[in-house]
Amino acid sequence: MRVGRLSDGIDACVAVERDGAWYAVARPEASVLDVLEGDGRPLGEALPERYRPTVPLRPARNVMCLGKNFRAHATEFAAYAAETETVPEHPIVFTKAPESLCGAEDAIEVRRGVASSLDYEVELGVVIGRDGATIPVEEAQSHVAGYTVVNDVTARDVQERHRQWFLGKSLPHATPIGPAVVSADEIADLDDRLITCHVNGELRQSARLGDMIFGVAETIALISELVPLRRGDIISMGTPSGVGIGFAPPRFLADGDAVTCEIEGVGSLRNIVRFVDSGRKT
Ligand code: MG
Repeated sequence: MRVGRLSDGIDACVAVERDGAWYAVARPEASVLDVLEGDGRPLGEALPERYRPTVPLRPARNVMCLGKNFRAHATEFAAYAAETETVPEHPIVFTKAPESLCGAEDAIEVRRGVASSLDYEVELGVVIGRDGATIPVEEAQSHVAGYTVVNDVTARDVQERHRQWFLGKSLPHATPIGPAVVSADEIADLDDRLITCHVNGELRQSARLGDMIFGVAETIALISELVPLRRGDIISMGTPSGVGIGFAPPRFLADGDAVTCEIEGVGSLRNIVRFVDSGRKT
């Protein structure tokens, strides 16, 4: 099942996607997670085109993210940061604020002057459906409600200036996610799925999810050993090589750029970058 949250700017609903069309299944007060656990039966006809996907679910706490979880990206990042370690021995986990999330078709809106080195990072988002602490690897999959696509947009200049990654990763309304949460049973062969990012139609990132250093089950087990996971948590699994900072000279995002992030069978995000004079308050 593919479940998202749609809005026409006035009205909102939770909807299932079937063959490219969206069908309302519940009012907005229902959660995407609740619908994923039900039968997903549509309430009526397909929603009109004016209904567009918004953030499918906003976690109650920070989105957890893995850094340097693809070998080739770990190498390109180490070269940029002049680090001796390339491939991490243990997962690097940081977080980004839930306010950073935006919809699959929203503008990536960044206040001019706040970030001059804006970068893209296509990633698999794992949505946790069930609370758990010290989850064994072999039980980890039963805690996954589904998968989504995340563009872990990063202000490299902010990231570098503040050392810790939180601020550079948390620009408000600048991390596209969605368009749906796809139930895990639809993505049985996760490792074979292609993950790509295009900027203005040019392929920048391309890998198979099987290239991740730490897989989904292992990551859930490792994080939950220290921090109990909660229903509605989102873990963003790290990005392949080909990010803007990896080029010499770097190729950062510019005003008007179109960024398309896609995971085969999971979905795609298409967002235009907008540098604006006054940013959002939330
Ligand atoms: Mg990332």
